[in-house]
Amino acid sequence: MKNITIVGGGLVGSLLAIFLAKKGYNINVYERRPDLRKTNILAGRSINLVISHRGWNAIQAAGLEEEIKKITVPVYARITHDVHGNQTKHPYSIENKAIWSVSRGGLNAKLLDIAEKFPNVSLHFNYKCTDVDLDHAYATFEHTENGKNIDVAADLLFGADGAYSLVRQKMMQKDRFNFSIEYIEHGYKELVIPANIDGTHQLDKNGLHIWPRREFMLMALANTDGSFTCTLFFPYEGEHSFDKIKNENDLIHFFKEVFPDAIDLMPTLVHDFFENKTSSLAIVRCSPWVHKGKVALIGDAAHAIVPFYGEGMNCGFEDCFVFNSLLEKIGDTDMESLLMDYHQLRKPNGDAIAELSLRNFIEMRHLVAEPSFMLRKKIEDKMQEKYPNKWLPLYSQVKFSNIPYHEALSTSKKHDEIMEKILTLESIEEKWNSTEIENKILNML
Ligand SMILES: Cc1cc2nc3c(=O)[nH]c(=O)nc-3n(C[C@H](O)[C@H](O)[C@H](O)COP(=O)(O)OP(=O)(O)OC[C@H]3O[C@@H](n4cnc5c(N)ncnc54)[C@H](O)[C@@H]3O)c2cc1C
Repeated sequence: MKNITIVGGGLVGSLLAIFLAKKGYNINVYERRPDLRKTNILAGRSINLVISHRGWNAIQAAGLEEEIKKITVPVYARITHDVHGNQTKHPYSIENKAIWSVSRGGLNAKLLDIAEKFPNVSLHFNYKCTDVDLDHAYATFEHTENGKNIDVAADLLFGADGAYSLVRQKMMQKDRFNFSIEYIEHGYKELVIPANIDGTHQLDKNGLHIWPRREFMLMALANTDGSFTCTLFFPYEGEHSFDKIKNENDLIHFFKEVFPDAIDLMPTLVHDFFENKTSSLAIVRCSPWVHKGKVALIGDAAHAIVPFYGEGMNCGFEDCFVFNSLLEKIGDTDMESLLMDYHQLRKPNGDAIAELSLRNFIEMRHLVAEPSFMLRKKIEDKMQEKYPNKWLPLYSQVKFSNIPYHEALSTSKKHDEIMEKILTLESIEEKWNSTEIENKILNML
């Protein structure tokens, strides 16, 4: 095997190109958009992401940790803002571990820069994949400016072309390909908290700020330039919804009432709200992720999820890591069985993180503001501290470990059952820290 085509030069496609370039293959990456390093295509879409342990694991394996660290900001805690502007800090880890905030565009640009330095990697921008002959890893691309088509042959083709993948659409035309897409009732919009005049941050930069309001929430993550990228997760329709905010008055009135401390920090709110597009959120499930020994889906193309655990990219990076590890372990002579192994290892994890992400939305927008949530967290922190081998809270399993997502999901179901019983015990608020409660939990494990 020599030549590999990667459709999509987003986060996952560009990291995959680096992994495979290191193995000596000839890599051609075809990206539908112009080169984001030379244009302003991400204006108004400056999403911030968090990199967690499994994302770093892949970045490290590709030898990129030092370079990527430079463009990240560590985030040690959730900081919730109530309707009166009071802030409460909830550290993510009892061991002071961090997740890392990074600009999606900035990270993508950095990965493209690194990929491009390999002599065996060619990046082709403005090339949109329009057709794939799955049996032969043969693809057609249309130049988005001059309309000319090119045909590209390869030994293996990856669909790293995101949630609305063309490669996956072609796989759907084959018999017995399973596919579903589920839109949630919320969409999101990017807003901005700019830096202070001296370039410092207006809020604690090492916190992920959340304004949880039950049915919706605002979130803010720090950038290295002193600003924050905010995301409003909001229903499309209903009493409080995008649908109800029709003009500047509606917007200001709503923000003053619901996010009073945030509005003071957002001088361009009106412009950002009405100029930036509202984007939908969906979960994509499909199977199989591979076709014979010729085509594989990776990243969002295989498993688009809602962003409430901040794991979409991390999961995609883990796909690259696992694929690379399989290559190292079994070599590339039987690509059909390697791709099947890849699918079998990753598919249950894609499904599990999809479920966990949806569940975490409820935690973030609603539960995090509830006293019972805080109490549960205190109990879990204590159990983790005393019995680190017996009790690892779900958040730590997902964000600070390589435990497969599907295992984290099944352990968390067990933990939920136990904690439901514990939290309904009489006077639990007073005796949560007692040996009696500790023993009860240990007995139920
Ligand atoms: C609001 C929000 C917040 C998020 N926060 C986090 C977070 O904190 N942590 C995290 O891990 N993840 C997060 N995610 C998810 C993360 O953004 C995605 O999982 C990640 O971008 C997936 O990378 P990808 O390369 O698979 O797909 P994409 O980033 O979508 O890249 C796909 C690329 O393929 C190109 N393409 C598409 N079709 C074609 C075609 N026909 N031909 C050629 N090229 C094509 C696209 O232009 C694009 O560049 C978040 C997502 C959202 C929406």
